[in-house]
Amino acid sequence: MKVKHGKLWIVGAGPGDIDLLTVKAARILSTAEVLVYDKLVSKNILALAPPSCSKIFVGKTRGKHTLPQARINQLLVDQTLSGLQVVRLKGGDPFVFGRGGEELEAARAANIDVEIIPGITAALGCAAIAQIPLTHRDHASALTFVTGQCRDLADQNWRGLAGPGRTLVVYMGLNGAHSIADKLIADGLSAATPVAVVENGTRADMRVFVATLSTVADVVAREAVQSPALLIVGEVAALALNPSLAGETLILLQHITQAA
Ligand code: SAH
Repeated sequence: MKVKHGKLWIVGAGPGDIDLLTVKAARILSTAEVLVYDKLVSKNILALAPPSCSKIFVGKTRGKHTLPQARINQLLVDQTLSGLQVVRLKGGDPFVFGRGGEELEAARAANIDVEIIPGITAALGCAAIAQIPLTHRDHASALTFVTGQCRDLADQNWRGLAGPGRTLVVYMGLNGAHSIADKLIADGLSAATPVAVVENGTRADMRVFVATLSTVADVVAREAVQSPALLIVGEVAALALNPSLAGETLILLQHITQAA
């Protein structure tokens, strides 16, 4: 009897809008036998998996982990070793603040067949939809992605990450917006440096705000910005959608994806 050969696919689901899923991700999803997914993956993307597929939620909310990472790794390995086509679906790109690297290491250690499918990471999706060019010959020739929360690193080193001619994109920076802005100002950035806040980027309920380093924490608090949200720091943030509205101003971009 032929032994069924399992395979693990670590797949990026993109920032939310189903149309931003890659063709390859959609194809692999439609053949999944097991789907292991996170909180950030949109429901209509999950629905691309066949009805027969078992769907396992392992999402994490801040400070509350549904399953520890080691258990997730083990689950992926066990399901694949049992001969199934396993899709590990993650928001954005699996290798950008997504722990895809840890899952890949576990797959390699177990000697299972594994393949990675990239996804549009939040920085690219959010910037594109807010019409913020992350690089621009007049404004930014360097681009940095950083997390506002770091394992085993109580304090990320913010020195030199941002500045004139550079764009800094902060993932998971919402709760730390105040101290991040303070650290960047302490590192020499002008308090007037533009900061865009993109909440639920590319989703129907997306909101975009343009503030400055000195006002960003107030804007986040006043508008009750919720996760997932991204901070884009640098001159380019002032180019968001309608530059005449820049300042401490709300720019509403709702339903753009729906209207398309
Ligand atoms: N692997 C993902 C990032 C996971 S970390 C990726 O490549 O995009 C989770 C953080 O990503 C969130 O806290 C938020 O900062 C950001 N994020 C993910 N999706 C987002 C979205 N649709 N809008 C705004 N920020 C998003």
